[in-house]
Amino acid sequence: MKKIAVNIARLLLAVVFIGSGFVKAVDPMGTAYKIGDYLEALGMGGLLPELVTVSLSVILAAIEFSLGVFMLFAIRRRFTSRAMLVFMAVMTPLTLWLALANPISDCGCFGDAIVLTNWQTFWKNAVLLLATALVAWRPMEMFRFVSKTNQWIVTNYTGLFILAVSIWCLYDLPLFDFRPYHIGANIKEGMEIPEGAEQPAFETTFILQKDGRQQEFTIDNYPDSTWTFVDSKTVQTKAGYVPPIHDFSITTADGDDITDQVLDDPGYTFLLVAPHLETADDSRLDLLNELYEYAKEHSYPFYGLTASNETAIDRWRDMTGADYEFCQTDETTLKTIIRSNPGLVLIKEATVIRKWSHNNLPQIEEDMTALPLEECETGQLPEDSVPRKIAILLMWFVLPLMALTIADRTWMWTKYFLNHQHKVKNNMRKKIVAGNWKMNMNLQDGIALAKELNETLKADKPNCGVVICTPFIHLASIAQFLDQDIIGLGAENCADKEKGAFTGEVSAEMVKSTGAQYVILGHSERREYYKETPEILKEKVLLAQKNDLKVIFCIGESLAEREAGKQNEVVKAELEGSVFNLSEEDFRKIVIAYEPIWAIGTGKTATAEQAEEIHAYIRSIIAEKYGQAVADDTTILYGGSCKASNAPELFAKPDIDGGLIGGASLKAADFKGIIDAWKK
Ligand code: PEP
Repeated sequence: MKKIAVNIARLLLAVVFIGSGFVKAVDPMGTAYKIGDYLEALGMGGLLPELVTVSLSVILAAIEFSLGVFMLFAIRRRFTSRAMLVFMAVMTPLTLWLALANPISDCGCFGDAIVLTNWQTFWKNAVLLLATALVAWRPMEMFRFVSKTNQWIVTNYTGLFILAVSIWCLYDLPLFDFRPYHIGANIKEGMEIPEGAEQPAFETTFILQKDGRQQEFTIDNYPDSTWTFVDSKTVQTKAGYVPPIHDFSITTADGDDITDQVLDDPGYTFLLVAPHLETADDSRLDLLNELYEYAKEHSYPFYGLTASNETAIDRWRDMTGADYEFCQTDETTLKTIIRSNPGLVLIKEATVIRKWSHNNLPQIEEDMTALPLEECETGQLPEDSVPRKIAILLMWFVLPLMALTIADRTWMWTKYFLNHQHKVKNNMRKKIVAGNWKMNMNLQDGIALAKELNETLKADKPNCGVVICTPFIHLASIAQFLDQDIIGLGAENCADKEKGAFTGEVSAEMVKSTGAQYVILGHSERREYYKETPEILKEKVLLAQKNDLKVIFCIGESLAEREAGKQNEVVKAELEGSVFNLSEEDFRKIVIAYEPIWAIGTGKTATAEQAEEIHAYIRSIIAEKYGQAVADDTTILYGGSCKASNAPELFAKPDIDGGLIGGASLKAADFKGIIDAWKK
């Protein structure tokens, strides 16, 4: 239930954030104006220059969109859910203030695409806040669409995509135009109040006086003439229907309202819309002037519409040589008509035919071929471009991410499947935890330890093979009582000579005669302190096998070799030098112990990943030499500061089949803790 609830909340948040981020990104100017409105409401109007508000708008859109996509794909689950929680924890009280104080009528959460009232916005945010709290409470319940390894592709691609959309829409015009002045819209129709629409309501109160006393009356209880009228006030009690376009007007410099004249003109009219001439971009003046000449030639009216004053208009004229007439229109209306300062609009019979940003003005020769507009494409209403734009977005954003998701999931499932197969195969291989007592324990202590272990493991059977390799002096005594079905017994070394005058040495045959079944050979301490070379070890392996001892053959690199990146080379040479001469049948009897020298007795353990990597490599070279079947059946142990705490992680790796344990094999409880790792 918890998982389902978190994932439903997560999808809801993803959809809302992606949607609101995207509509902001397609209209960065619109969001920048909204930021300006908020600042105005907070008494900080005009504090930030337009460049800053536009940048803030681009950043806000990118953050919202990216958080939405991260939530959808469950990328950086903890971070994303907390970031959204912070975002909503700031936005919800802010929108409550908007709803209560009503300083601006629309919060602008979804740009112009969906306009909500302030209370609707607040309730929407309250629901989202609950959803973010739920997700932030259990972020790890979100299932992934792409693996951790590949999530960087989604992260970077999303960031680049949404910034590219914003920048393009700033350079040109919003990709999708949700305003009442979009191409194809009829301005006059947008101004109409449909029949039967709700009418605004007003109420007038009258203040009258009699005998020095003032009282308020309405038209319904207006008193007789003994009262004297003092004052009246009228308030609007109901807004009534407000048409999408309600403040469009064009007034000439002489104060004549020519709105109807422009809108009723049966021909084409160019409107150069520049809310502020002071800050209007003047880099395409040549093109503008050419367009004006073209309009004059074909008798198309050409007006400049601005909210700027006479001085700014005169400055513009001086600077650009503009000959066209300038008229006054409300600033907000101009900013709503086109998100470009200046922008060019072509209308015919009040219908918006084309809109151009100052960066993308039409070229007379290329786009209009100097023909009258009636005869060229520019003069015709373009086909609906929304389906094409949606297709482009799908192609550039949705499809690549879908392809990535499919590839990633296929890769993960294949990996899971192969791993699973591998595990099944691995289970055929013997798991072993072997202790190496080294030169510790006198006879009595050693016997006591072996007895304790024997009793413990008889009472609680291990899930793997267990071996203890002890100094020679313990072997015969321990062999007497050890239950060798549960615990194998082994020596830590044997001689490289069969028998004879080798004072102090113990032969493989002697080891075998104690009742031991195993022998450790090639331990790094013997290689280093007793100068055992690959050739000597080769002899020892042969003699051990000749006497039916199972060899635990140690290999591993020094710290310097690991730092030089030579670990693979080293272990390969050690195998080639001492055991790769064996027949397949004899090699199958060998247990390999990979022990990085830098981890032995140092407390430093190779990470499970490091160990797995080299174990897999060792298995691969065994496969090269003896074939995959032999490699799959070879037990490879890990050794080097292995403890009960790190054993489960190490043993969980597919190529690690157990451990060769030094220090931690000297206490029954510690050793048992490692053995029990196979039970987890
Ligand atoms: C060892 O000597 O084989 C060994 C792994 O030692 P330790 O576990 O103490 O690092």
